[in-house]
Amino acid sequence: MSGTVYLVGAGPGAPDLITLRAARLLGEANIVFHDALVPQEILLIASKAEKIAVGKRCGRHSSAQMFINKRLADAAAKHRVVVRLKGGDPSIFGRAHEEISFLVSNQVRVEVVPGVTAALAASADLAVSLTRRGIARSVAFVTPRVGHGERESAWIASVLAADTAAIYMGTGEAAAIAAALIASGKPGRTPIAVVENASLSNMKVLRGILRELPELAARTEGGPTLILLGEVYGATATAGCFQAAYGVLRNAIQIAKRNRATNQPSDHSAIDRPRKVQSTTAHSPVPENSVCSVRDSGKFSSMK
Ligand code: SAH
Repeated sequence: MSGTVYLVGAGPGAPDLITLRAARLLGEANIVFHDALVPQEILLIASKAEKIAVGKRCGRHSSAQMFINKRLADAAAKHRVVVRLKGGDPSIFGRAHEEISFLVSNQVRVEVVPGVTAALAASADLAVSLTRRGIARSVAFVTPRVGHGERESAWIASVLAADTAAIYMGTGEAAAIAAALIASGKPGRTPIAVVENASLSNMKVLRGILRELPELAARTEGGPTLILLGEVYGATATAGCFQAAYGVLRNAIQIAKRNRATNQPSDHSAIDRPRKVQSTTAHSPVPENSVCSVRDSGKFSSMK
């Protein structure tokens, strides 16, 4: 047997933000190697597959990566459809290249299925356009994080050059990030949004300006978090946050109505299920430096 390894994007967390192609492949998969953060509801789609978590521990990255590469190649020798399921998009800070080059050099067929990367989901949650006309014509996806022995990241230059920036894996170093950017000329009053658990019902959004980044980052609760930076995240962002909640509610109602009318759910109940965010309160936009979060109750709360 010589199977294909599919590097599949699971999206940012919400099960209904996975692509139809990804869902079809999961349904066909014989074996799925998945990141630790991929939600159970998505794994349930892979109903006939053996599921193996392949989280990497800090500090043991390269040996863990080689072990995963080898397991993927071995699985392809035994199975027709091998899925390597990664959070967000596999090609954005997903170590896709290591796996692709290992598999190709071992004559294993590889295909990549894109996913919704966290920056797009977070901006969607805020109802903010990353490339808002008149304000932003460029976007940078960056991380200061590099592996042992790898060359330094030029993330600062990229953030300075772009109108909008999404900083991945940055909250642990928030103070250093803010200091480095300000020292390099980024104005301390640049609007930012710190978005934790984008796309999920426990999403938390903290808004402010660059010089407040350390204190905002300190208020996150340990979930995956993105730092968004740029004028597009200015005054309208929080209003957008509330608008987004209305949008989610509207979509959930429409899906429910459609399913009731046609009585034809798809094969993937996890995808059909509307998001847990079901209600919000009508408010005017909350002030700058505020929190706008969707709690398990499904309600937005805002606090100074
Ligand atoms: N391939 C992934 C990124 C992997 S790096 C993607 O395309 O999204 C992991 C980092 O992504 C996290 O540290 C965090 O910065 C960001 N991230 C992933 N999921 C997120 C989410 N739901 N909300 C906010 N940030 C997220």
